[in-house]
Amino acid sequence: MNSKNHYDVIVIGAGPAGLTAGIYLSRARLKTLIVNEGIVGGQLVLTHEIANYPGVESISGYQLANIMKKQAMSFGCDIKSNVSIQQIELEGELKNLMLSDGNTFSSESMILTPGGRSRTLGVTGEDNFKGKGISYCATCDGDFFTGKEIVVVGGGNSALEEAVSLTKYATKVTIVHQFEHFQAFEHAVTEAKKNPKIHFKMGSTITSFHGSENLENVDLKNLKTGETQNFKTDGVFIFIGYVPNTEFLKGKINLNQWGEMVIKADMSTNIEGVFAAGDSTAKKYRQVTTAVGDGTVAALAVSNYLHELKAKQQQLITI
Ligand SMILES: Cc1cc2nc3c(=O)[nH]c(=O)nc-3n(C[C@H](O)[C@H](O)[C@H](O)COP(=O)(O)OP(=O)(O)OC[C@H]3O[C@@H](n4cnc5c(N)ncnc54)[C@H](O)[C@@H]3O)c2cc1C
Repeated sequence: MNSKNHYDVIVIGAGPAGLTAGIYLSRARLKTLIVNEGIVGGQLVLTHEIANYPGVESISGYQLANIMKKQAMSFGCDIKSNVSIQQIELEGELKNLMLSDGNTFSSESMILTPGGRSRTLGVTGEDNFKGKGISYCATCDGDFFTGKEIVVVGGGNSALEEAVSLTKYATKVTIVHQFEHFQAFEHAVTEAKKNPKIHFKMGSTITSFHGSENLENVDLKNLKTGETQNFKTDGVFIFIGYVPNTEFLKGKINLNQWGEMVIKADMSTNIEGVFAAGDSTAKKYRQVTTAVGDGTVAALAVSNYLHELKAKQQQLITI
């Protein structure tokens, strides 16, 4: 391995968590490489407008991602995007990476920030209307549906809690759930049921989305009778689960039953020198601000880890 391909830190993922880590690490004069599967920005680039990032009243996700990228590069951070990981070795003193383009890299430490994705219904029209009436995040998009009538899909705690929170904006929220009973805590069900703005379509599912530019209506299928009805709506929020992008880490690092990376308060994992940050870790709230916060903590913890590692190595040389 030539020294050109050896880094102090390799960060996997260039979403807000990874880019923030890149900014802090490069600014601390640590030789840093960020490797990203798609285009830089992660879920930010799927976000039409970010209106809850402190200090910025309103900005497109794409723009915010590009500012973060430029900021990291201005401090000397290397970024490789649109590449996939062929092989990753986390154990041992040196961490190793082989990419699909044949390049290999090594590092003293790694920060894993592969993020995640919302589980989708996978039905006709869903891809077309993402961000044009279909949303997977109430905190992010609820405000855009002020005074509108919307649908919430799902029957777990997230769906019910988010449905209640969306009644701050929407005039009517219809919860569509495939079963006759909810899979949520009793208090979440009670809160939803006592809210006069919330209506229910149990034993039903959306089979397709329709509209011209924006979503206008959906096909709702009653799973008992098989009947389908067309249902007019201004928006649909889907809360049927979340999938962390950690498939490539299975068997290599401690993951919980949902595939989320298990971390300590300083973002360290069960493997020495390997840290994790952002949406792919085990946590409750997933936002740009929380990802940025995690990325900061992970970068500072890595700086400290490398500092201590170098001190130990110096001590050994002196002895
Ligand atoms: C439609 C939508 C709207 C949203 N709106 C808002 C909002 O208004 N405000 C807000 O605060 N939050 C919003 N969010 C949530 C916010 O975008 C996420 O919480 C945040 O992006 C998480 O950052 P992250 O860096 O942890 O992960 P991500 O943003 O998911 O980035 C992870 C990156 O890692 C890459 N990656 C994955 N696997 C690999 C691999 N094996 N090798 C290399 N790279 C890999 C991915 O390609 C991606 O670029 C929204 C999310 C969505 C989907």
